[in-house]
Amino acid sequence: MEEEPKPILVRGRQDVCELDRARLALMNPALIDQKKEGRTIDEAAKPFIELTMKEGIETVWDRYEMQQPECKYCAAGISCQRCAMGPCRIIPPHRVRGVCGADADLIVARNLLDQIATGAAAHSDHGREIVLTLHGIGKGTVSDYRITDSEKLRRLAAEYQVNVQGKDDKTIAAALSQAMLEEFGTMGNSLRIASRAPKATREIWENVGITPRGIDREVVEAMHRVQMGVAADYANTLVHGLRTSLSDGWGGSSLATEVSDVLFGTPKPNESLVNLGVIRKEYVNISLHGHNPMLSEMVVKAAKDPEIQALVKKVGAAGINLVGLCCTGNELLMRKGIPVAGNHFNQELAITTGALEAMVVDYQCIFPSLPRTASCYHTLIISTSPKSRIPGSYYFGFEPETAYATAKAIVKMAVENFPNRNPQRVFIPVEPVKVTTGFSVEAIRGALGGSFKPLIDQIASGNIRGAVGIVGCNNPKVKHDYGHVTLSKELIKRDILCVETGCAAIASGKAGLLQPSAASLAGPGLGPVCRSLGIPPVLHMGSCVDNARILHLAAELGNALNVGIHRLPIAGAAPEWYSQKAVSIGAYFVASGVYTVLGVMPKITGSPAVVSLLTEGLKDVVNASFAVEPDPLRAADLISSHIERKRSELGI
Ligand code: SF4
Ligand code: SF4
Repeated sequence: MEEEPKPILVRGRQDVCELDRARLALMNPALIDQKKEGRTIDEAAKPFIELTMKEGIETVWDRYEMQQPECKYCAAGISCQRCAMGPCRIIPPHRVRGVCGADADLIVARNLLDQIATGAAAHSDHGREIVLTLHGIGKGTVSDYRITDSEKLRRLAAEYQVNVQGKDDKTIAAALSQAMLEEFGTMGNSLRIASRAPKATREIWENVGITPRGIDREVVEAMHRVQMGVAADYANTLVHGLRTSLSDGWGGSSLATEVSDVLFGTPKPNESLVNLGVIRKEYVNISLHGHNPMLSEMVVKAAKDPEIQALVKKVGAAGINLVGLCCTGNELLMRKGIPVAGNHFNQELAITTGALEAMVVDYQCIFPSLPRTASCYHTLIISTSPKSRIPGSYYFGFEPETAYATAKAIVKMAVENFPNRNPQRVFIPVEPVKVTTGFSVEAIRGALGGSFKPLIDQIASGNIRGAVGIVGCNNPKVKHDYGHVTLSKELIKRDILCVETGCAAIASGKAGLLQPSAASLAGPGLGPVCRSLGIPPVLHMGSCVDNARILHLAAELGNALNVGIHRLPIAGAAPEWYSQKAVSIGAYFVASGVYTVLGVMPKITGSPAVVSLLTEGLKDVVNASFAVEPDPLRAADLISSHIERKRSELGI
């Protein structure tokens, strides 16, 4: 009999002492109320934020306040820590170069390239893990996963020129995954999957010299360029940033999305629930937080194991309630209709329900302080990625080869923690909101009757003026969810269809915009179209790596019309972005020809030349640019003017 996997407590418990909590706790009800209203528009989050302030449980907003005032040089991107001759700061009029001689333009550009490369690496490394799992299935070393969407496997195989005639799924999986793995370090000069982009878009990349050559190659080259004494020209440095981002969007992220569909199923429209009210009092609650669906899919399976179910009965719980957070939540919501407790800034609040037995995490967007938050309750933080062993968490090394046994041990640990819950501290005074999600490109095509022509016709007739991808995170510089929800509501009112991913999509879900009934909030053109199709005016397209789905949708429209993506009446927006991954996403949207409006200023204002290149100069390079507009209503104005301009250029 195989030994049950056992966790390691990483670096011991991370307790928060009572004195620290007493110091942080607020007594003044007016101040609590003012802060609560200032922090979020998520009504379901407000009672929990109030509780954290009364009980002195530290949250992201408290830490943000403690970090003020921010360093103005860092905020402007003109500080550099790249080598041991520094750190250096640019302080005109005298300190205008770092020790090495780098000026403000170069320092800002290098810092930005570093961020893009970090974001691209995060998405693409996630993609690699998924493709390696497919490879393991093909080679017979991984038996806990199976191929769920065989049709998509074969479609991808055809794209990669893998012979499928008379071959079974396993054989195809081995050959396809091999071809996909080669995309990471290819000897060729382009990515095969990027040939989905319209010809005109690829020609622009070729002319500018930003065709992505290999997923790892672009990231490694970016790291080489930011080494002191390599990059010297800011514009040349930023152009490589575009290429690196393309290797993410049309490379690593595309592979993550497509192969996840093969393994776990291509999303189809389904109904579920969102907000902190999905946590249920009588149940063993386990939240699944992070990004990679490999762990969470296996936890879903393990939760049904008869041995686990018997244990649930034994501890006196009504069952196991799995809930998602952030992008793992989006993956589960899209494919399995598993409820989502919230987005990035709901992660700490989920613990304060007092009813969470375990928060199971893999990587990305997980606050390293979660074990400190959890120490105020009985909640266990269970980390699983060797890349992210969180101090204070119980760590299980998760590997595809032993996925089920590990997932089962994790669920067992959570169930056994149920009796440790303090019923007096259970606090769930909110009800969840209904959502309809699962709009993969395939599902949208299906809802339109098998082709994108009806959508194109509606855009051409003007009932739908255009489409906008709203993506990204939460950031304490913006009132939680305000940027996402205000922008989405304003755009649908103007007959602009919204397609959303990541924490933006969850924000819209919590605000009721992912329900078909939200068609009543849409304008006179979009509203009836949504009603006739029975779809919401805001379509949930998945997690952060699923921004690749937005690219693929844009490519379908461009290919159908035989135009580059830059000619379509579409735009992108990231109203509350925080992550380096979002920088890469914004860059690959723009490099693909999509005008993109950011709600938070990147750290570039120390270089007027970089600001000018990104907001104006790129129009002559890739026919698209960035804009920064913190006010979502003004961002809606920018986006609709852009869409109307594109419409008139197309003559519609
Ligand atoms: S790379 Fe140049 S600017 Fe940066 S820390 Fe070193 S010397 Fe200073
Ligand atoms: S949208 Fe941003 S915060 Fe949310 S999961 Fe993705 S990267 Fe993290």
